[in-house]
Amino acid sequence: MDDNLWLMELESALLDDCTVNDIYSICNGKSIPEALRPDVWQVCLDVRHKNDQLVSFNEIFDLPFQRQLREDCDAVVKRLGNDDEDKVSVVSDLESILTFYCKNRSLKYGQGNGWIELLLPLLSLKLRSTQTYHVVRYYNLFEAIRDAYIPKGCVKQGNVFHLFRLLVLYHDPELCSMLDTKRITPDLYSRTWFQSLFGATCTLPVVLSMWDLYFQQADPYLVFFLSLIMLVNVREKILAMKDESKETIVEFLSNMPCALEPDDVVDFCSLAQYYAMKTPSSFKTDMLQTLFGAQVDSPLDPVVAQALCLPVSVYELVDNASMETPHPEAVRFFLVDCRPADQYNVGHLSTAFHLDSNLMLQEPVAFATAIQGLLRAQRQSIEANSNAGGEHLCFMGSGRDEEDQYTHMVVASFLQKNTNYVSLLTGGYSAIHEYFGDHMIDCLEDHDVHRCLVCCGNSSHAKNNNTARNSARAPAQAPSSSSQAPQTKITADLFSKLGASLKSKSQEMKGKLFEYIVNPTTNAAAAGQNVAEKHVSASEKNGRRYRNVAPVFSIDDENEEPANAAAVKAEPSSPTDETDSKEIVQLQAFLKQPDVVTSFRCQEVHMNGRMFDSHLIVTKTHLVVLRDLGKGQSQVIVRRHLSSIVKITAKRRHRDLITFKYGVPDGETLLITDMDRFLIPNASNATEIVSRHIVQQLENSKNA
Ligand SMILES: [Zn+2]
Repeated sequence: MDDNLWLMELESALLDDCTVNDIYSICNGKSIPEALRPDVWQVCLDVRHKNDQLVSFNEIFDLPFQRQLREDCDAVVKRLGNDDEDKVSVVSDLESILTFYCKNRSLKYGQGNGWIELLLPLLSLKLRSTQTYHVVRYYNLFEAIRDAYIPKGCVKQGNVFHLFRLLVLYHDPELCSMLDTKRITPDLYSRTWFQSLFGATCTLPVVLSMWDLYFQQADPYLVFFLSLIMLVNVREKILAMKDESKETIVEFLSNMPCALEPDDVVDFCSLAQYYAMKTPSSFKTDMLQTLFGAQVDSPLDPVVAQALCLPVSVYELVDNASMETPHPEAVRFFLVDCRPADQYNVGHLSTAFHLDSNLMLQEPVAFATAIQGLLRAQRQSIEANSNAGGEHLCFMGSGRDEEDQYTHMVVASFLQKNTNYVSLLTGGYSAIHEYFGDHMIDCLEDHDVHRCLVCCGNSSHAKNNNTARNSARAPAQAPSSSSQAPQTKITADLFSKLGASLKSKSQEMKGKLFEYIVNPTTNAAAAGQNVAEKHVSASEKNGRRYRNVAPVFSIDDENEEPANAAAVKAEPSSPTDETDSKEIVQLQAFLKQPDVVTSFRCQEVHMNGRMFDSHLIVTKTHLVVLRDLGKGQSQVIVRRHLSSIVKITAKRRHRDLITFKYGVPDGETLLITDMDRFLIPNASNATEIVSRHIVQQLENSKNA
């Protein structure tokens, strides 16, 4: 009886001008009868009253890639079980719709771009009315799905896949790290999932019922979480494949959706929603324009492309802390303030746990104790159901590069331990500071305007960062808090009002760094040499050493740091990719080679904080970096000729963090072309040996 009731309700709603919300509440997850599906989808995708765009179609099939398009339509339809007469009309509909789509939107069709697979489930709706009218309706549905639900730039290294990897990392760092180690980037296996909303990989009944839920849900990000569930669902199987070849794993992953049965769809989608709820959500707002909307090439988003972990924007953090009665499963943050103590002491959020990132390198024992304290405090505040306590660790740096590289190392160390739910506050403390504007006096604790680095704005450097950030994210609303009644004492309630009215200017560590490359800083004093130093692109690598002078080991000035960071971060490829096509060797065999002088166990430190267990090998002529792959295998990351090393530096405060700089002379200046950084226990021993061999090598070449 009940069944009939909701169906009647749905039918009558469809006859009226109903909305997607009406349909959602009437259907309540029940499966939609085939006869009503076309109408339901048209309401959900808001195309019921859309004009006939095809009136402008000249019906001339003359695209440069027309032949390819026709052949592909033909080939796909051949595989379907329809009778021949049916096939001819399906091929012709496909080709008409896609040809018009290309012309209407000035797009190019590319083989395997998912369009055909996205259209086929629509054609199965068998819309029939007047002769051409059904084509119009297919077209409108197709265009609406593409605009609303298919992420832009589904290409290798596209924003989509960077973001997807971050989501996997957030929920399953162990799985993510295994796939990273195998150099399996998400585009390799999930591209068709995103391009066709699983249309290309699932059976038609599965696709239809998944799309029923999808379009009612009206959440464009659902595909990310559906894809995440695909992986997490069989994580044990995937982890067990760690010794299989990359190709075998990619094939297994790509085919996972084929196993879905129609009965699984509801569970699958609810699980995806559950994971979506357990994920910080500010990335959704911040990336909406980059990822969705009319399909044009969207530029690479530097925040996501270079992120160490999932970025969280200030407005989400503040909103989250002021939620009165959150859903028990919703994201609750535990904020970890990683700034140096002197900065924390002159202003911080009352909810923040302080973990001085400098301790990690300076006093590892104290750091380990601090971590224990952190975990205890987190457990206690979760038990107390406090606003400040949650499972989700949100790390916060200062927003200044100098300190933040240590924050990144702390974050990386948590990720290495496969800690779930790790995020990083975009823009760090400066972003919080800016967010509160004139009200910060009520929102920050122990805030001392005379000693607060953000207030003092003492370094022009910090100001530049702000400008870069603002111009990069121009439309973001400035926190015009001065216009809000300053006499009112701000309470937690106001936090949520601010949160709703202010848009984050989600800035990034990386974007501003590119400034340094465009305007290389010359800093002879800091470089500890008489020649000025310029930083150039990492691609110009091979060079003679400068004036045949051995590099002087020096203790770095901290101020020099941003320039260093710029040069290294300028490498466009991700850490997983830059090692592509490098040779794999047996570590022990490699160490026994006759020209090996010595080796050091160390960690290779990337500028974004990622660390890799490695060996640094000194041969008679080269410095070789081997990354541990496990089981005695290592990957040759880079070989540097000893004579290309022009500088070896340690940090003043972190003497085991060693940077090797490579360069070439350029007139009177020295061009730093590249650098590697390592965390080496007892580093002075290592640097001494390397320096000695460089000198030796120079002598040899002089005598030769
Ligand atoms: Zn301040």
